[in-house]
Amino acid sequence: MYLKTLTLRGFKSFASATTLQFEPGVTCVVGPNGSGKSNVVDALAWVMGEQGAKTLRGGKMEDVIFAGTAGRAPLGRAEVSLTIDNGDGALPIDFAEVTISRTLFRNGGSEYAINGSPCRLLDVQELLSDTGMGRQMHVIVGQGQLDAILRATPEERRGFIEEAAGVLKHRRRKEKALRKLDSMAAHLTRLQDLTAEVR
Ligand code: ATP
Repeated sequence: MYLKTLTLRGFKSFASATTLQFEPGVTCVVGPNGSGKSNVVDALAWVMGEQGAKTLRGGKMEDVIFAGTAGRAPLGRAEVSLTIDNGDGALPIDFAEVTISRTLFRNGGSEYAINGSPCRLLDVQELLSDTGMGRQMHVIVGQGQLDAILRATPEERRGFIEEAAGVLKHRRRKEKALRKLDSMAAHLTRLQDLTAEVR
């Protein structure tokens, strides 16, 4: 599995449709300060479902839409599409290529699609959840984040490793199941009391 193409249209500084093509292996994006290198990384996080405007270096989600320049009017929507090569079947979907798209309209409307079919954010998150590209994206290491990992306490570091290994998902499910068991035990006690009273 590897990222094949990323297309931005109306996303941050990318007003016109811009497609970046990647090959397997390492890709470096170089350019002068303020030319949009970090915006490309923001677009990757955004199309994979990032919900935090701050993580995307904005104040509100609408800030990802091209805000206009001296020579160009603001746009009404931002669109990003990411095509992933799924030749090795790492994504649990029966396609050799998977395109995830996200669109945000200035009026607040938002859409996701997988291979052109409209879907929910949850579908995108579930598709990516076992690839390490899911909700808590440790695949994207922002400026300063490496420092935070190096300074983390052993417990915090264990959290990072568990998330990367996919253990955290099961821990959360276990906690939820235990809470349900507790609540069922309380219901059972109440039922036994009632039965005793009726007898
Ligand atoms: P550096 O090397 O300094 O980190 P960079 O290449 O990573 O820079 P970015 O931070 O990706 O640059 O891009 C910053 C540019 O994107 C700024 O010029 C900013 O005005 C522009 N920009 C950000 N959001 C928008 C938006 N919504 N509309 C138009 N331009 C935007």
